[in-house]
Amino acid sequence: MNINKTSLLFIFLAIGGLNFSLAAQDDSPKEEAMKPQMSEFWTPKASVVTPGNSSSNASMSPPSDAIVLFDGKNLKQWTNQKGEPAKWDLKKGSMIVNKKHGDIQSKQEFGDFQLHIEWCVPANIRGEGQSRGNSGIFLQNRYEIQILDSYNNQTYVNGQAASIYKQAAPLANAMRKPGEWNVYDIIYAAPTFTKDGKYRTPPTVTILHNGVLVQNNTSILGTTQYIGFPQINPHGKAPIRLQSHGDPSEPIAFRNVWIREL
Ligand code: MG
Repeated sequence: MNINKTSLLFIFLAIGGLNFSLAAQDDSPKEEAMKPQMSEFWTPKASVVTPGNSSSNASMSPPSDAIVLFDGKNLKQWTNQKGEPAKWDLKKGSMIVNKKHGDIQSKQEFGDFQLHIEWCVPANIRGEGQSRGNSGIFLQNRYEIQILDSYNNQTYVNGQAASIYKQAAPLANAMRKPGEWNVYDIIYAAPTFTKDGKYRTPPTVTILHNGVLVQNNTSILGTTQYIGFPQINPHGKAPIRLQSHGDPSEPIAFRNVWIREL
């Protein structure tokens, strides 16, 4: 268990205790409303690791049994969140976030999988913190792996690239600089649930960022929440969703997206 999750657990327990005492005596102070900053952790910093060179941004072709979700030609495998055709922009074999049209998600739903996805922060990126190349990959439509320009860009560690957003910081910062392609290889195990709607086994995720281990079979605590704590709601197979974040910075690009069901 890393320090971030230890901290989260402590806060869960503290709030549980507060609720108990509130029930016991009405004149106790009221529980403070949650604010975004309450689930942000700034230390310890992930060490910076320079990834190996990917021979001038070459992209690896999918293995033979992969389901290709994006090969640079069209967005046929994707819809918006209403099930309508995805309207991100196609350019030079990549798909570019179109912030007018919102998130997109895979038509197909997945349980356990291995996902390969490449993404690029544009060389002319501006902004700072969470407003610099923000996007994300929602595993099973609810657990966000953060995408952000984390090259010389400070933010809370459980919100930088390759974090499980607002939950677990990456083990290293393996970010390539803007204009270069980043690769995530994500191995994900879906949760199982008890009859009363709790996790029997939580979702877990292992992530390589540019070949560097950044999440090592990390347990996901629940759904991604910007404000407040993760929630647990039973679900089955669900899509991969890519985030169109409302930050004002230049939109990021994706390419070579494939998945293997496990
Ligand atoms: Mg994001």
